[in-house]
Amino acid sequence: MSKLQTAVRDIAEEMRVRTDRGEVATYIPELANVEPKHFGIAVVGVDGEVATGGDFAMPFSIQSVSKVFTLTLALGKAGDRLWSRVGREPSGSPFNSIVQLEFEKGKPRNPFINAGAIAVTDLILSGHQPREALGEILRFIRFLADDPSIAIDEKVAASEQRTGYRNAALANYMKSFGVLENPVELALGVYYHQCAIAMSCLQLARAGRYLAMSGRNPETGHPVIQAERARRINAVMLTCGHYDGSGEFAYRVGLPGKSGVGGGILCIAPGKASIAVWSPGLDLAGNSHLGRVALEALTKRMGWSIFGA
Ligand code: GLN
Repeated sequence: MSKLQTAVRDIAEEMRVRTDRGEVATYIPELANVEPKHFGIAVVGVDGEVATGGDFAMPFSIQSVSKVFTLTLALGKAGDRLWSRVGREPSGSPFNSIVQLEFEKGKPRNPFINAGAIAVTDLILSGHQPREALGEILRFIRFLADDPSIAIDEKVAASEQRTGYRNAALANYMKSFGVLENPVELALGVYYHQCAIAMSCLQLARAGRYLAMSGRNPETGHPVIQAERARRINAVMLTCGHYDGSGEFAYRVGLPGKSGVGGGILCIAPGKASIAVWSPGLDLAGNSHLGRVALEALTKRMGWSIFGA
């Protein structure tokens, strides 16, 4: 068994028996029904080695992890013009905070807080019907993971659509400053559906490989995006991917990562591996508690922190 396989096996076993698991998100009613005992991990090395543990094959709601893929798509579409609509500084605020938007005249701090992600989705939507924009997002993720079976969990999307009062407030507020081009309901509809994409750890780790491989598609060797862009997406993941827990994540794990309230984290060890973990219980900042603990253990054992072994 390789060093990686042994580390992943040990970590999955450690996480299975831990009793500190955080709290599952309840503000999206459908997510409140998820069993907090799950833990999954999948690591896909740039050399093709795959190591998996726990519930690595079970699909979960990727939620905000989807924002990495929409940011990639939107940069492909708009290039650096994107940054005139959305900033790239850490927010130091919760993911659904509204106060900062007023100070900054409707321009969201970064593409990973909810306001920023809604603005990014609005950009993808421009010139399309919502169904086409969503199809483009889903096709892109299926292509990255090389898995056509990836789908949207309509129950989760409907559940959030019914209760997404805060996101509606954020979107309306941005619309009043002209930051959104499309009708608020349409931008939100696409956003809720992209968040409701269900993927397993293995599918997610496979989808993230281009970020570990300087933007290249590992199957074909062809670029998905330019190397410079992949590097920059990783930078934004490091500084903003865990909201007001981003500093703590960098301190403990030392890798770019993007969390979602479904309990998933996509984490990139540039030049080494794409990693996905899932544990539905969250910490106070809305990031997977055991997901972070597991990643901290993995990077320590493998010496993968970008800040040194
Ligand atoms: N769909 C969720 C929301 O908008 C995503 C938040 C998250 O995963 N942090 O609230």
